[in-house]
Amino acid sequence: MNFRCSSRVLSRLALAPLALAATLSISSQAAADPEVYSVLIPYYSGDELGKLTKLLDHPYVDQKTRTVHAEVSPEELAKVQGMGMTVQIDEVETARIQNFITTRAQDMASGALKRTARARPSSIANGVHSCYRTVEQVYSTFDELVAANPKFAKMATLGKTWMGTQIVVPPVGTAVPDNSSSSFANLLIKYLPASIVTRFNLSLFPVEPNPVKVLVVGNFEKQDARAEAPPNMVWTGGIHAREYAPQEVGIKFIEWLLDNYGKDANATMMLDTNRYHFIVHNPDGRKLAEQDISARQRKNTNYGSAACTTSTAAGVRNTINSGVDLNRNYPFGWATGGAGGSDGNACGETYRGVSAGSEPETQAILQYMRGTWNQAACKWEGGALPDGRPKSATYCNPENRANGGTGELDWTTGASENYGGGVFIDLHSNARAVLWPWGVERTENGNNTHTPNNKGMAVIAQRLAYHNNYSSQQLLSYNTEGTTKDAIYGYLGAPAYTVEMGRSFYEDCGVFERETYPENFNGFHWLSRVLYRPYQLPFGPDTVNVKVAEASVPSGSKATVSATVDDNRYRYSNAGQGDILPPPYPVVYNVKSAMAYIDKLPWEPGAVGTPLALAASDQAKADFPDATKTVTGAIDTTGLAAGRHMVYVQGTNDDGKAGALSAAFLDVTAAPPAPAASSVGGGGGAMGYADIALMLLGLGGVCAATTLARKRD
Ligand SMILES: [Zn+2]
Repeated sequence: MNFRCSSRVLSRLALAPLALAATLSISSQAAADPEVYSVLIPYYSGDELGKLTKLLDHPYVDQKTRTVHAEVSPEELAKVQGMGMTVQIDEVETARIQNFITTRAQDMASGALKRTARARPSSIANGVHSCYRTVEQVYSTFDELVAANPKFAKMATLGKTWMGTQIVVPPVGTAVPDNSSSSFANLLIKYLPASIVTRFNLSLFPVEPNPVKVLVVGNFEKQDARAEAPPNMVWTGGIHAREYAPQEVGIKFIEWLLDNYGKDANATMMLDTNRYHFIVHNPDGRKLAEQDISARQRKNTNYGSAACTTSTAAGVRNTINSGVDLNRNYPFGWATGGAGGSDGNACGETYRGVSAGSEPETQAILQYMRGTWNQAACKWEGGALPDGRPKSATYCNPENRANGGTGELDWTTGASENYGGGVFIDLHSNARAVLWPWGVERTENGNNTHTPNNKGMAVIAQRLAYHNNYSSQQLLSYNTEGTTKDAIYGYLGAPAYTVEMGRSFYEDCGVFERETYPENFNGFHWLSRVLYRPYQLPFGPDTVNVKVAEASVPSGSKATVSATVDDNRYRYSNAGQGDILPPPYPVVYNVKSAMAYIDKLPWEPGAVGTPLALAASDQAKADFPDATKTVTGAIDTTGLAAGRHMVYVQGTNDDGKAGALSAAFLDVTAAPPAPAASSVGGGGGAMGYADIALMLLGLGGVCAATTLARKRD
């Protein structure tokens, strides 16, 4: 078992460099030196760590071994070495990344990549990365899902990208038409030097740049009939163009939901209860990243106000480093935190843009998230996430709001713990962490990173981290400002996160399928089950493995329900920066009670719970034997119509906090019972929760251990 992860990777890697040297045709320089190095850098002080995290992008910091793992360009490698620090190059991982990059180039050169003709599951290219969809393939998936599930899925275009705003098509009949801005490819030719443009296969760019789009799914009819609007899970994916896994994780979870409605009880509960929004944040940047020319495209492609230029013989020209880091462009706290929270230099990887919210992608998404400002009510209205953060008198003053934005910032007023709007997550690669606001210690906030909802957001993060196997820490080891999560929490009070997934920007599909997707599936599965009250339900125990023993029961008889209720599911990590204390919660409590409900969620009018009996669980930890319990009971089906019903189970701990729900199907017959047969009511679907949990236990943990061991070699 221990060998499975490492040996597979190693055996393929041993062959990789030969293969790519022989057939490489697009990027002729790639065979000479790697374009990306995987490095391990030991640090010996907070000062050294600070310098490293300022320079490097999304590094993974191992606080126990005091090492930084990062994927760096040759220039960054030289800079770190120039700082006098010891850099260990992970040759195996560097070769794997190079193989990832160059096999994609081979696929494109050979014609194996036929973007429009590929059937699902589709890919950016064949080979080790065939699991990642292009922007067009994601959008055609949106179309297919809407067509196949008209009552459960809808799609909207949120706005143009920067490239989209630059398109100018000369009118028909123009004597000497200027086509320099008439297509994505022509805009690249217009703005970039030929030495860069010729490295791209221009035929793979759409004529019209893809807009920013959202896919929304849920049981709309059922939700619209309820008095309270549904809670929302809002994801943005691909804000950093080269981070391949995040977009795929989001769209795959939505596919799982739709594929399993009516087949898996939890998927059914989730779609009936919650609304999911998946947004592709940076389609322009992604089109560049899909070709891996430099393998480094992070930002959008603003070659105008975010031009990073260099002097050449032909004059001053743009470089590929142009663009705005959209995750530093959001207006809440834009450019105010200082201390490396964003970059004012257009060539920087964290360039914040010329002004708060300057980029069309930011504007389109912010408009969708928060809606429009109602001055009379002093709140945002009509957005995907409702405004749950009461505004101060200063904030409500229109003069302050107009005053460059600073007057509208409120750092101290919290959202109600009863907030029912949902959760926002910005999906990233690859630091294996769950991060929450604020991203920087602010003078406006008493030199603190904590929001007024810090306890609630910390507990969500720590429960989520148990499920996705990542580190729950408020910050990585560097400051951030102008980010999506700070803006969504700041304006609306919704719990807002950055989830850093996986181990590499250039994640092999094997790792993605085996580890990255299952980890995040588990995280989203849990979060879906607390979405109704995200600041409250995470304080209670999780309920899993709900089962109805009987395949079906005649109406009027009893059905046997069982489940596992577990308060011990959280993952506690350091805060991420040495001078910030980690939060001292959650605290594990004993399980006090559990209830089963038929067809109504515990909080719905008319819901009647049946108490379940508690017994020892073989999953309990020795030091907390009563924090994990098996619960069982007989529920009465009197009055139920023949057909399929839902059973929901929820546990409560000794602190009086009710937790995450899980569901099972209950099939009721009118006639005498069918022959007795033992069956699992909550199963069904290709990816049962328990299956994935087992998969994680078996593979994820082993992979983690072997990867670390390999890197230390
Ligand atoms: Zn990122």
